[in-house]
Amino acid sequence: MLSFNLLVLACLSYAVFLFAVAFWAEKRAERGQLGWLRSSAIYTLSLSIYCTAWTFYGAVGYAARSGLEFATIYMGPTMVMIGWWWILRKLVRIGRTQRITSVADLISSRYGKSTTLGVLVTVLAVVGTTPYIALQLQSVALSFAVFGVANPGGLVVPDLNNTALWVAAGLALFAILFGTRNLDANERHHGVVTAIALEAVVKFLGLVGVGIFVVWGIGDGVGDMLTRIDASPVSKVNINGTRFITLTILSGAAFLTLPRMFQVLVVENAEERHLFTAGWAFPLYLFGMSLFVIPIAVVGLDVLPATSNPDMFVLTLPLKYDQQGLATLSFLGGFSSATSMVIVAAIALSTMVSNHIVMPIWLSFRKDGATMSGDVRSVVLLSRRLSIAGVLALGYFYFRLSGGSEALAAIGMISFTGIAQVLPAMLGGIFWRGATRTGAIAGLLVGFTVWAYTMFLPSFGDAAGFTETLLAHGPFGARLLRPQALFGVMGVDPVVHAVVWSLALNTGAFLLGSLVSFPRPVERLQGAQFVNVFDHSGSTRSWTHGTAEAEDLLVMAQRIIGALEAQKLFQAEAEAQGKQGYLPDATPQFLERLERELAGSVGAATAHAMLGQIAGGIVVSVEDLMAVADETAQMLEHSSQLEQQSEELARTARKLREANDKLTELSIQKDAFLSQISHELRTPMTSIRAFSEILRDGGQSSEPMDSESLTRFSGIIHDEARRLTRLLDDLLDLSVLENGQVSLNWSRTNLHDVIKRALEATAQGLEGRDLLIERNALSEHIAIETDTDRLAQVFINLIANVRKYCANEVPTLRITVRRLLNDHIQIDFSDNGIGIPEHKQSVIFEKFSRLSDNAKAGGAGLGLAICREIVTNLGGRISYLPGQGGAAFRIDLPRVHHKGR
Ligand code: ADP
Repeated sequence: MLSFNLLVLACLSYAVFLFAVAFWAEKRAERGQLGWLRSSAIYTLSLSIYCTAWTFYGAVGYAARSGLEFATIYMGPTMVMIGWWWILRKLVRIGRTQRITSVADLISSRYGKSTTLGVLVTVLAVVGTTPYIALQLQSVALSFAVFGVANPGGLVVPDLNNTALWVAAGLALFAILFGTRNLDANERHHGVVTAIALEAVVKFLGLVGVGIFVVWGIGDGVGDMLTRIDASPVSKVNINGTRFITLTILSGAAFLTLPRMFQVLVVENAEERHLFTAGWAFPLYLFGMSLFVIPIAVVGLDVLPATSNPDMFVLTLPLKYDQQGLATLSFLGGFSSATSMVIVAAIALSTMVSNHIVMPIWLSFRKDGATMSGDVRSVVLLSRRLSIAGVLALGYFYFRLSGGSEALAAIGMISFTGIAQVLPAMLGGIFWRGATRTGAIAGLLVGFTVWAYTMFLPSFGDAAGFTETLLAHGPFGARLLRPQALFGVMGVDPVVHAVVWSLALNTGAFLLGSLVSFPRPVERLQGAQFVNVFDHSGSTRSWTHGTAEAEDLLVMAQRIIGALEAQKLFQAEAEAQGKQGYLPDATPQFLERLERELAGSVGAATAHAMLGQIAGGIVVSVEDLMAVADETAQMLEHSSQLEQQSEELARTARKLREANDKLTELSIQKDAFLSQISHELRTPMTSIRAFSEILRDGGQSSEPMDSESLTRFSGIIHDEARRLTRLLDDLLDLSVLENGQVSLNWSRTNLHDVIKRALEATAQGLEGRDLLIERNALSEHIAIETDTDRLAQVFINLIANVRKYCANEVPTLRITVRRLLNDHIQIDFSDNGIGIPEHKQSVIFEKFSRLSDNAKAGGAGLGLAICREIVTNLGGRISYLPGQGGAAFRIDLPRVHHKGR
């Protein structure tokens, strides 16, 4: 009897051997010596992970219970490999051109990089696969136990849980070591693939070895075996036709959609032509694996006690006949089946979990985005590794929870049906351009829910407590909704019931959702890519006729150069081609023109890549395109920010320059002002000094001054002093007005009174010249809110100026008052003098501006400046009215004072 310890040792050495093989293959691949690592034999063998422990151990148990029905799990994939290889070829081509990394990635990419779909498929895959991983752990643990039981003298009686834990940990280590070595775009894992190819050989040898032993060792050759089978209860089992067909289709569907199968079929595929070899070789492998299942089951039922578990016949039969070498080989075969499946499943699932759940969350936490690529790399690797550990931990916990008691086949069926829900979205996505994201989400959700309700939930059995009532009476007594008799469909096999309902409703929801919703541009683009993958992924570089859909081109062109521009371009081309409508033929000439046009917006390389995407030639994934578009958008934003900043800088600089100019101007003005003032002051001062000196000297001289001269000189001194005082008063007044420190006495008054007062004030004290006044007194009766004294001051100034400067024979002043619509008053003072020359009109309101230097009336050029300041302070405007014959000034005043002005 084989010692249990020896078995553990064999198992450990086998594991070490696998590690070594994987390591060696990885090293070879790193050195670029791929050779047969990339052969079609390795590819075909790697597909054998389809045959898990379920197939290795479970198939015999399945056959012992249900006869030939077990064959369905082999027939499904055979059917796909032989009859549907064109689907596989399409998947492989899409996987390569789009750099697809998993089923979730395929579905999410096809439907416009949808995050929702990625997450949905990932969750579905994890939920569907976890029981399956648990199943593998269980079978390894069970097979150890078989040896423990068969070997009572052994020192160790293995604890199932412990064994499963160790196996899980070891597998996690392997998957992490060889599954996350690099993050190459093609995601190929040479170490892992080589190791599982080796395991494929071991499990084949194990099962066939046991089979040969059973037929020729225990039995008496083929003839004897056939009689045994005929006599066995296995051949008496009635085959349910519907169930048989359903299960075959189900296995076929699962073969396409299982994450681990997708990993080896599509992701790890090195060359498309390997598919052709696998197309006949893999069905042969499956045939070999299934050939001896019935004989083993029949003989097992025959010779082993009725209590022994049919799932373990492959082990217990050789043990019973004390074939230790064979038993060990068979054990290693089972071990291989379980481990290869778990490793690949863990890698596939971790890729999905990491890419569709962990990374998006991580990125959303890092608002500033991932800038350094090295940074992201390490995070991706870490998240992959943690995901692998997580997936295996999940499998282990499920194993502990489920108690490891169920028949292996049941779990396999549930898992298959769950993951098969991806099929409608997958096939629809690669064959039907009309399939949309909404449809895919609807289909998956409906299928997943129906599956969970009709299959997953009932699988908990009585353990869940509530399931029995639910199964018998439906939720809340709604009998139509009983999980295994949905909508009153009764008497159907539960598996058939669940498969048909879930897939039918799934497909229905998918079709309906796709028909009623409208795809986004990315979806359309991706749809075209996926459906027409063979048209697009040729290797020609120049544009060939008719490979591109004009509509796709238009969609893309609109995104790049704007809807209007694009439509114009297409319409013009269509017209030139003499075609109706707006869609021209995608002729090579047109493509070239379009490329040039697009290059203007996005650069030549990008434009070529983008067109290549649609029109064939170069392989660029839409993800790349989006990245390019993102980059461009960012650049645009950045440059517009820069533009804004530089505009702001320019504005600030302009303001500074203006301020500086103003300061310079002010400083010049100040200098001019000071020199003006000193000049204005000096003139009277000089005469005062001169005449006072004369007076003083006159008093001292022997010859006294005559009284006439005395009066004249003192009169001059007096006048000059007065002029000086007035000048100082004016200056003071002006500075007060200019500083805005003036306090105004607002009151209501009649404009007529103010004008009257001003006329009276100017009438007196002036030598004989009479001033004729023309006015319409009636129109002057307007109530106005103003500072009466200040307004009168303005009027006095203007009237005095006429008196001073109007050189007409008969000086006449006309005062016109007008009331404006906007509640303003317009007062014009115009005389019949020579007026003010045009080039001087703009400066007369400035301080010290005089037309001639004759200070004949003692004017220092401050009068109009003061007027302007007063009127401005009163809320109005004063301006010179040109073209009125003589000098004319217009004052515009608001009638009512608005506070806070
Ligand atoms: P001043 O105090 O010297 O009168 P103003 O500021 O009142 O200074 O006037 C500035 C100049 O505008 C005067 O020197 C004069 O030459 C010219 N001016 C003002 N009013 C008239 C007018 N009605 N007719 C001709 N020239 C005038």
